[in-house]
Amino acid sequence: MAQVKTRFAPSPTGDLHVGGVRTALFIWLFARRHNGTFILRIEDTDQKRYKEDSVSSITSALRWMGLDWDEGPEVGGEFGPYFQSERLELYGEQARRLIESGHAYECFCSIERLAQVREQLIANKQPPGYDRHCRNLSEAERAAKRAEGIAPVIRFAVPLDGTTVVRDELRGEINYENRVLEDAVLLKSDGFPTYHLAVVVDDHCMGITHVTRGEEWISSFPLHILVYAAFGWDAPVFYH
Ligand code: GLU
Ligand code: ZN
Repeated sequence: MAQVKTRFAPSPTGDLHVGGVRTALFIWLFARRHNGTFILRIEDTDQKRYKEDSVSSITSALRWMGLDWDEGPEVGGEFGPYFQSERLELYGEQARRLIESGHAYECFCSIERLAQVREQLIANKQPPGYDRHCRNLSEAERAAKRAEGIAPVIRFAVPLDGTTVVRDELRGEINYENRVLEDAVLLKSDGFPTYHLAVVVDDHCMGITHVTRGEEWISSFPLHILVYAAFGWDAPVFYH
């Protein structure tokens, strides 16, 4: 097996919970068993949910359990910074790369419009989401929006048909029809990435080979695999 590199990537939204500890323990053991590298990355891009002191509470809990990290806060490393809030420039560049290659687009829709769309889709018994209103705006239409002072978000352009096949090491292959996937936001209008962009960019740029994460992310898994493909990157191995 190629050199194993794993990570634990908590969000600093409070104290570490037992589910997170379990995720960290398994992937730390896996790294140590294969003489690999284990990194700690702090996913602090959700400013609203950020809790002061939770980084130190997380690091001290990991240390108390004996789960040491080879790269990350307090120890540094060549793939840093290890706080996502310090990597905003990278995410912006990568999101723009996806626009240039036709895999992402700017969306100028207001919160009010998005709420209306959502209600309508639910009323029509369609899966709630975004109606791709801005996916085919012309350059002139985009310029007009910008001139109005509207800062866009950047959305991923999910293929409109076909199937995305993903492989989870615990469940095997899972098929998702692309038409049920949403054109998710990758970069918010304030320049902060969403989890979907930051996790793919960082796992790739930090050289992660194996990912363990909570089961709650399995519904976003096809999106992440599509984002890897759009970048032309190989995805790591996943255990949800
Ligand atoms: N920051 C995410 C969380 O705490 C991490 C998910 C992942 O490991 O990719 O849920
Ligand atoms: Zn839009």
